[in-house]
Amino acid sequence: MTNFDLSPAKRQKLFEKAISLLEQYYEHTAEYPITAPLDQQQIVDMIHAHHFDRQQGEEEALQFAIDSLKKYTVHTPHPGYFGLFNPRPTFPSILGDLIAAVLNPQMAAWSHAPFANEAERYMIQQFGQKFGYLAVDGVFASGGAEANHTAVLCALNAAFPTFANEGLFGMKNKPVIYCSGEVHHSIVKAARAVGLGLHAIINIPTDEQQRLVPEAIEQQLQKDKEAGLRPFMLVATAGTTGAGAIDDLPILADLARQHHLWFHVDAAYGGAAILSPKLQPFLNGIEKSDSITFDAHKWLSVPMAGSMFITSDPEILSKTFRITTAYMPREGQGMAIVDPYTHSMQWSRRFIGLKLYLSLLFFGWKGYQEVIEYQSNIGDYLDQQLEANGWTIKNTTPLPISCFTDDKFRDNPEFIPYVHKAILDNQQSWISIYPINGMPTLRACITNYQSNEKHIDQLINQLNRAREMFKR
Ligand SMILES: *Cc1c(COP(=O)(O)O)cnc(C)c1O
Repeated sequence: MTNFDLSPAKRQKLFEKAISLLEQYYEHTAEYPITAPLDQQQIVDMIHAHHFDRQQGEEEALQFAIDSLKKYTVHTPHPGYFGLFNPRPTFPSILGDLIAAVLNPQMAAWSHAPFANEAERYMIQQFGQKFGYLAVDGVFASGGAEANHTAVLCALNAAFPTFANEGLFGMKNKPVIYCSGEVHHSIVKAARAVGLGLHAIINIPTDEQQRLVPEAIEQQLQKDKEAGLRPFMLVATAGTTGAGAIDDLPILADLARQHHLWFHVDAAYGGAAILSPKLQPFLNGIEKSDSITFDAHKWLSVPMAGSMFITSDPEILSKTFRITTAYMPREGQGMAIVDPYTHSMQWSRRFIGLKLYLSLLFFGWKGYQEVIEYQSNIGDYLDQQLEANGWTIKNTTPLPISCFTDDKFRDNPEFIPYVHKAILDNQQSWISIYPINGMPTLRACITNYQSNEKHIDQLINQLNRAREMFKR
């Protein structure tokens, strides 16, 4: 007999305790100091003191885990967190993660989890159609990094039919990937992980708005072909992580088609714009792509981690990942289904999509549209307030990301780090630093659906105050 289940009475008590502690946090997130104390030794000591040579009281253990997390974490669900696309998770998405843990469907084989698999497939189809694809295939991934890695593998298999069997050894010419220097570095990691190496990444120059310069691609193609390289993939970004720049998708799509490059659009963050009629035009051209990375755990406000890899090529995932085994279940044989383990990088699969599915069931497309447009309006309010207070915005994007500085301090390299530190020390807002055209700026992004004018005003006050202090 094991006691892993505990008793029904004990479970009820622990469920209730966990829920009341979590609800307390969810309701009062804004009251927590936003940054984490980074006293590593203290944290290590605390963890070592709770070693596993003894059993701890269940309630004590639960309290310890939640309290420690609350104390030592950057509170990304806080409305003053103007950070790196980490959202406050919607309530149904939290329930989704809990339900997935309890039922624990194994999604590797379709026949083990037919509802979960069909629900994920439905979402992939729906989002693919929203992006304008005629044929849609895809798969949920653990994050944008896995989705981008999947894209590089698909691009290789599309360009080199021998790749699946021979790998890179079967190639006469060295394959290279085109992208801008503003691309997310998960593409670089993917190039390394698939065995292409860092030098297979060719950075195409960007303009002053951090957008890839399409004209530079043709020159580069000429040069690389003469050098015996084989360009096979073009990665555009719709909403760069740094400044929210959206590459010129229609022109890049045409160039890619003309030169037989797999056209991947990394819309990990910016893909959500597709749900707003107001923002959607900025993604024009995405329908011509071969594949898209779109994270649910960014602008769709679900807990980490969950991403979608969506492709307009219905064959490519099977070409890339198909494998046969003797030990996997075969009950689905003969049915019009695909087993995700033959279709993706993962094998055992969590029901990643449930948190998004429940959110969509609760709020529908309309609820998402409203929230995305609300956040976009708060971003506009932030821009207005910054400018009204003598700050200059240095980036250009329709998405709610502002990179700004005060030009009066352009020549003082200490200004931006000083203001940044003052904001973080204040514990009420979180912003980062990002260089625009070689000059550091402060970066604030509306990633939280609870951030309102009051939180913006508070940030502006703190910025102004830090600037005053710096002058003295
Ligand atoms: C966040 C991000 C990624 C990486 O996604 P993860 O979900 O963090 O793995 C890739 N590309 C872009 C543009 C991103 O913003």
